[in-house]
Amino acid sequence: MGSTDGVHTDDTDELTEIADRLDAMTRRLNADACAGPVAAALMVQLGRVGRSRDAMTGPVAKRIEETQAYVVHGDRSAAEFCARMAGVHTSQAKRVIAEARRLESLPETEAAFRAGHLSAQQVALISAVAVHDPSLETELLEHAGDGLVPLRDACIAAQARTEDPQARSARHHAARSFRMWNAADGMVEGRFKLAPEVGAGLKALIDERTREVFRAKHREGVREEHDAYAADALAESVLGSSTGRVATTVHVVIDHAALVRGNTQPGERCDIPGVGPVSQAWVQQQLGTALLTLVVKKGKDITTVAHLGRHVPAEVRTALIVEGRECCVQDCHARGYLEIDHSEVDFAKGGPTAKWNLGFICSPDHTRKSKGWTLGPPDPQTGKRVLAPPGRSAPAIIGTPQPEIGRAARRERVLRLLAPVEVAGEVP
Ligand SMILES: [Zn+2]
Repeated sequence: MGSTDGVHTDDTDELTEIADRLDAMTRRLNADACAGPVAAALMVQLGRVGRSRDAMTGPVAKRIEETQAYVVHGDRSAAEFCARMAGVHTSQAKRVIAEARRLESLPETEAAFRAGHLSAQQVALISAVAVHDPSLETELLEHAGDGLVPLRDACIAAQARTEDPQARSARHHAARSFRMWNAADGMVEGRFKLAPEVGAGLKALIDERTREVFRAKHREGVREEHDAYAADALAESVLGSSTGRVATTVHVVIDHAALVRGNTQPGERCDIPGVGPVSQAWVQQQLGTALLTLVVKKGKDITTVAHLGRHVPAEVRTALIVEGRECCVQDCHARGYLEIDHSEVDFAKGGPTAKWNLGFICSPDHTRKSKGWTLGPPDPQTGKRVLAPPGRSAPAIIGTPQPEIGRAARRERVLRLLAPVEVAGEVP
């Protein structure tokens, strides 16, 4: 460390030298002339530079706030000064400072951040939860290597586990928001936040309508982005249209013991797959309405699936959703606008609509598959499959083709499954 009586220290000098060299390199670099592997290697190093910068920015910004060093630069707050220096929005600088404060009580996360093992996004997710209960820190850090989506799921689940259900519902309710503004391109833009119980219903409605819009456009021979269709679905749902209301359902997975007892205890589930834990009080209120599918579990076994869905193979769809509504392709965590795909044997080749032959797949991966990419067998641990480009080792088709359940048998099975629900409906 250099002297602290002058403005410059050894650290300032060293960082100035690095920044000067980076500036010189930025001017010199001709990315267009780089071979692909060189560009990839450069990206690896740029990732390191970014993580180092992020890990240093927080503590430095926090120190600027503590010492009010921003005053001499004519700024009104540390966030304002830091935002100006970094060329970001003040709200982002505020978040960075708040995060650095949280990291004071989370030494493991801070050390991993400084060592370049965590990105700023990962640190934001972990610290937001672990700051309330530092005993969760180690567990959440273990999920950091799984990818952002699994880490976010782990954070949601960990926080729900440690939070009083009523307090959680109250927090969600208080934080609900909806904002709209005019975007620079002349369009109307917005952002919203809803409690999971409300959001899941909205998501089910928009997803269903998006599928309808997709089918209608497909018949016309039009192909646009799913996000565009979802925008149509939102506008139609809110503003009304000739097609009327779409019947939608939300799937709740709940432990039998929790349902009977009336509350959820550690290790038990009461959640909407793809959304996360929800209030059991809300589930109890919804029992008997057509909006809800209840999937009752005892341990690993599904004991009851009660739904009033319109689609005939609804039980198959429900089983798929419960297993995790996510694209089945390795390293793809897409969860929006998934298609149910005939994963093992294509429908065109006589593949049946039976559960062993179905899986969720995202739109881009589905497009690849229809262009000749092939899906490998599911990983026994994760259920994920490798999607290999044409010409690469075509993975073997696994699983024994089973005959599709006949219509009568399916109906009988649904009736059998529905029977115990009357019992569930009597739960106080
Ligand atoms: Zn995918």
